[in-house]
Amino acid sequence: MAAKILLIEDEERLAGHVRLWLEQMGYECAWCSSGTEGLAKAAEWRPDLVLLDLSLPGMDGWEVCRRLRQAGAVAIIMVTARGEEVDRVRGLRMGADDYVVKPFSLPELIARVEAVLRRSGSAGGERVTVFHLEELEVDLEAHRVRVGKQEVRLTPKEFRLLAYLIENQGRLLTHRQILHAVWGPEYVDDLDSLRMYVRALRKKIEVGETPVQYITTEYGIGYRFG
Ligand code: CA
Repeated sequence: MAAKILLIEDEERLAGHVRLWLEQMGYECAWCSSGTEGLAKAAEWRPDLVLLDLSLPGMDGWEVCRRLRQAGAVAIIMVTARGEEVDRVRGLRMGADDYVVKPFSLPELIARVEAVLRRSGSAGGERVTVFHLEELEVDLEAHRVRVGKQEVRLTPKEFRLLAYLIENQGRLLTHRQILHAVWGPEYVDDLDSLRMYVRALRKKIEVGETPVQYITTEYGIGYRFG
């Protein structure tokens, strides 16, 4: 099954060219000229990837990106005329998977599309479950973790711990709850192991120049993620 790509772009000529190219490359492609229309199409059509123009009439690309992210795990490539570093960073922080600056060549765009689809595991069109938060990207199916562009290697237990925290994002989890879920009922008192694993996980995902604190310690109680 061909991967489905939704193009949200108000420049009709450009959209036409891109669409033709994508279809020639074997992708299924749909085009919307506004953010509102694009969001409705995405909800109904369930694309694997959205090529999202940043400056759209009405709702802008930032807001469309935010809403797409909220609605699910679709891959997003932002397409924009603005190439300043600050926008690039903001785009990636907003959960875009990649960023293409106009004017771009079509082969360049196709290469990015292929790379993002490969990364998100949907080159064949199957659904993906990729979690994004700030710099953190976790593919819950493929068991792949990235911080920014950097691949992070977790042990199977560290991954299960992280996946459990993600599943319960925002909730305060007690030590016993986490130990029960990740280690098993016979380990609910093994606080030392839990502390050790949380420390190891933090070392791997809370990295970079200004590390994001994903895991918060609630002293004497447990942890909260996100
Ligand atoms: Ca535009």
